[in-house]
Amino acid sequence: MNEASLDALAAAMAAASTVTVLTGAGVSADSGVPTFRDAGEGLWARFRPEELASPEAFDHDPDTVWQWYRWRQQCVQAVEPNAGHRALARLEADLPDLRLITQNVDGLHARAGHRNVIEFHGNLQVNVCHAEGRRVTVDDEADSPPACPRCGALVRPGVVWFGEAIPPAALEQAVAAAEACDVLLAAGTSAQVYPAAGLIDLARRHGATTAAINPDASALDPALDIRIAMGAAEALPALRDRVAAITGGS
Ligand code: NAD
Repeated sequence: MNEASLDALAAAMAAASTVTVLTGAGVSADSGVPTFRDAGEGLWARFRPEELASPEAFDHDPDTVWQWYRWRQQCVQAVEPNAGHRALARLEADLPDLRLITQNVDGLHARAGHRNVIEFHGNLQVNVCHAEGRRVTVDDEADSPPACPRCGALVRPGVVWFGEAIPPAALEQAVAAAEACDVLLAAGTSAQVYPAAGLIDLARRHGATTAAINPDASALDPALDIRIAMGAAEALPALRDRVAAITGGS
C-alpha cells in the first residue's frame, strides 16, 4: 500500500513543474527533536508548550519562557539532520522547482544542505528585540532574557508564538508556493496549527495533487490524494530514489 503510494507520489513529483513541501515537527522527530505531542516527559513535562510559546507567557514570566527556549536550543544543537532532511535537500537539487516551507524552528533543513527554506515560524537560534522585532546578538547563556542593546527592551527568541502574525515575507512566499505548485507534500505535520495548515487546502483549490507522509492519522487524511503511513526518515529517501529513477538522476 505504501509502496504504491510512494510510486504514485514520485510519478506526480517527477512530472510537476513546481513541487511544494510543507514540513512539521515529525520530520525532525527521527533526529531526536521531540514534537510538541511527544514532549510530555522530562524537565518540562509540567508545562504545555502552547502555554509557553506565547507573548502573554513571556510578558508574565520571561525567565521561564527564556529558559525553555534555551533548553530547546540545546536539544537542537545536540542532534543531527536525518535521512529525511537530506533526501529533501537532494530533491531540491534534482527537481526544477522545489519549494520548502517549514514550520520547524530547528534549522535542520539548512544543516542538511537545503538551500532555500521558507521558515514560516522563525528560527530558534535567532534572537530578536521583543519591542521592535529587530534581530540582535546577545549573550544567550543567561538565565534571564538580556536587554536589547539598542532600546533596552527584553530580548526574545526569533520564533512565531501562538497568536502572533507570520513574518510577511515568509507568508507571501509560502502562499505563492502553495498557489503555484502541481504537487503539495505535507510531511510530519499534524496540520492543526494555522495558517500553515491552510496552505494545503490553498494548494488543493489551485489544482495541486496533495499528499502526506505521517505514520499516524491526521486531520488532513480525508481530503488527501495520496497518503503514506511511514516515518519521514524512511519515506523521504524512498521517495527521492523513485523520483531519481524516473528523472534519470543519480
Ligand atoms: P505536531 O507536533 O503538532 O505534529 C507532529 C506530527 O508529526 C504528528 O502528526 C505526528 O503523527 C507526526 N510524526 C511523528 N513522528 C513522525 C515521523 N517520524 N515522521 C513523520 N511524521 C511524524 O507538529 P506540527 O504540525 O509541526 O505543529 C506544531 C508546531 O510546533 C509547529 O509550529 C512547529 O513549528 C512547532 N514545533 C517545532 C519543532 C521543531 O522545530 N523541530 C518541534 C516541536 C514543535
